[in-house]
Amino acid sequence: MPATPGQSPVFRFAPSPNGLLHLGHALSAILNHDMARDSGGRFLLRIEDIDLARCTPELEAAIYRDLAWLGLEWETPVRRQSEHFADYATALERLREMGLVYPAFMTRGEVKARVAASEAEGAAWPRDPDGSPHYPEDDRHRGDDERRQLMAGGMRHAWRLDMEKAIATVNRQLTWQETVDGTPTIVAADPAAWGDVILSRSDAPSSYHLSVTVDDAEQAITHVVRGRDLFQATAVHRLLQELLGLPQPLYHHHRLILDEDGRKLSKSEKSTGLQALREAGASAADIRRRIGL
Ligand code: GLU
Repeated sequence: MPATPGQSPVFRFAPSPNGLLHLGHALSAILNHDMARDSGGRFLLRIEDIDLARCTPELEAAIYRDLAWLGLEWETPVRRQSEHFADYATALERLREMGLVYPAFMTRGEVKARVAASEAEGAAWPRDPDGSPHYPEDDRHRGDDERRQLMAGGMRHAWRLDMEKAIATVNRQLTWQETVDGTPTIVAADPAAWGDVILSRSDAPSSYHLSVTVDDAEQAITHVVRGRDLFQATAVHRLLQELLGLPQPLYHHHRLILDEDGRKLSKSEKSTGLQALREAGASAADIRRRIGL
């Protein structure tokens, strides 16, 4: 990836400790580490543990163990998202002051039922690039009084971005710079494809999109290198960067490591887990070979 003039590149690997690392994580971590080394840049590790119910200290320890075994070194202290909820709350407050977020009261089950009912009538329901249905419009159209009343009554709620308003506020076509086969390319961002994304949950004070955007800026990341499965999500991150006045890094979404059936690896799959491979006698060099490095 090209260096940013006058700036020492900063790379990061940002795993979530909600499962064990697999070969796909190894590819991401090694690419970031080696690109940082080869460009005289920095390599940071960020623990994305906002999901307090699923992330555990044991899985976090396993991440450090696996990465050290791969021969990687990273700067310390490591940023752990669970220690920075205040930063995400500040960003959310800013968006709230801009009138771009609203409290969303529907449970997952209610959304599912609504979508199913609509689809049963033959109406297509919009879905995001990951295949999840867009959040219904009901809550977006509530008045302030009704919102206050529902919240005062103790209704559990998340906060969602009013995508239409957010796009209108930015009011220009957003793009990002993606490195494809070593060549810088401009990609048009399509945040609308995601609908009203969630920014903070009823059971977690932030969301992936919000915390990743805030942290990439907070840690002055210049190069985001991550799997292709997050390519489309970059549109949301670019929108949030614009709204919050944050700098935009360069992006490279690398190939994914697939299983024998051509599916994305999952954290529960034993045969491709780094710990399991190590215990079966593999070396770090074997892992590099297996992922084509
Ligand atoms: N925490 C995310 C994951 O484990 C990666 C975030 C990112 O690289 O932007 O999938």
